[in-house]
Amino acid sequence: MKLSGIFLPHNKGTQDSACVKLPLPKTVRIPMLMGIGAPCVPLVIKGDKVKVGDFIGDTDKLMAAPIHSPVSGTVTAVEDHLLLNGRLCKLVVIETDGEQSISPDVMPPNVRDKRSFCDAVRISGCVGLGGAGLPTHIKLNYDQNTRKINCLVINAAECEPYITSDCRTMIEQPDSVVDGIQQTLKYLDIERAVIGIEDNKPEAIRIMTEKTASDGRIEIKVLKSKYPQGAEKVMAYNTTGRLIGDRQLPLDKGLIVMNVSTAAFISDYIRTGMPLVSRRVTVDGDVVGNPMNIEAPIGTPISELLKFADTDIEKAKKILMGGPMMGLCVYDPDTPLIKTNNAILAFGESRKKPQTACISCGRCVSACPIKLMPCRLEKAFDAHDIDTLRRLRADLCMNCGACSYVCPARRSLAEKNQLAKMLIK
Ligand code: SF4
Ligand code: SF4
Repeated sequence: MKLSGIFLPHNKGTQDSACVKLPLPKTVRIPMLMGIGAPCVPLVIKGDKVKVGDFIGDTDKLMAAPIHSPVSGTVTAVEDHLLLNGRLCKLVVIETDGEQSISPDVMPPNVRDKRSFCDAVRISGCVGLGGAGLPTHIKLNYDQNTRKINCLVINAAECEPYITSDCRTMIEQPDSVVDGIQQTLKYLDIERAVIGIEDNKPEAIRIMTEKTASDGRIEIKVLKSKYPQGAEKVMAYNTTGRLIGDRQLPLDKGLIVMNVSTAAFISDYIRTGMPLVSRRVTVDGDVVGNPMNIEAPIGTPISELLKFADTDIEKAKKILMGGPMMGLCVYDPDTPLIKTNNAILAFGESRKKPQTACISCGRCVSACPIKLMPCRLEKAFDAHDIDTLRRLRADLCMNCGACSYVCPARRSLAEKNQLAKMLIK
């Protein structure tokens, strides 16, 4: 069995440059929803003083992670906010005081067993840093009586062009990555781990191989640089040979799949108690004068990140949060950086040609990593034929964009699949 995929230009020009810290922004704007699940309820009101690491949002809903202040300063507004995916949530605006005073609540957690480990991960505000944004404690807190997990898969593929933030994590924080893996193995009683890294990251592979050499439980698996290698099911299959079927989760096959930067963050949190208040983000694109990785507080307006990387924002015709294949277009350059945001890309004039009729070449079918039939799905969507969309399993599409990329007729296949899923719902 071979999962499909496509070869893309890598454009990993920022891979060899050290991450730079952004000067403290004047204001941060923090959405109360930064991943999958329920939005948090703001715990602060206008006029409140906050310190770095203070809780500013939480909820009693299970599928959520709390939100902390990345700065010290004053709350100047709590307002409504429209997310890029169309959902509404509250947003907390904080004017920074330049002090960066640390909250007294910031202290290393007392981790003794699985329960306290999962509690600590929840309190840290951790969500998957690779882009999907599932609250990490949900993934870790499985029922050990009904499921046996024997392998932790660390997703270090970073298969989208341009993005190198995970790669820099492996190069700059390899000890945190290894410690995060070891702590997860220990507290979840998992036998082994495998780190899947694409072969276009030789320095990260070298360092991770060296750092894991003394722990026989951790294997490095070098994978082809083939998109979408980092998709959860593709990563699980290519690192362990276990095929996660339709309506199955990695847990059903004895696996947990975790992003490599998430593993590093867990280690740092357990050591320092500093919750998820900043992240490493790649800033790149053809109108970015000085592409780089930047460590920035959550809530920083992305216009500040672009300016810091010498971007001519006037020339930017398309700004993306995330990679060119799965990223979301930003309509307001002051959109805040969120926890799941691994890249900001800015591009000038698009040279997109008009689409033409489907020539039934089948390339979209060959490219689809999960063997869907994008050309037939498109026809069914255009006809609003919900029964056919269901039969062709539009719901399984992970919107990787591989079908649209290879289509010689430039059909909007992935885009229509996204709409098709909504139509089915
Ligand atoms: S976007 Fe969906 S249909 Fe297209 S290749 Fe990816 S998974 Fe397959
Ligand atoms: S790749 Fe494009 S032209 Fe070829 S079958 Fe698919 S939709 Fe049609």
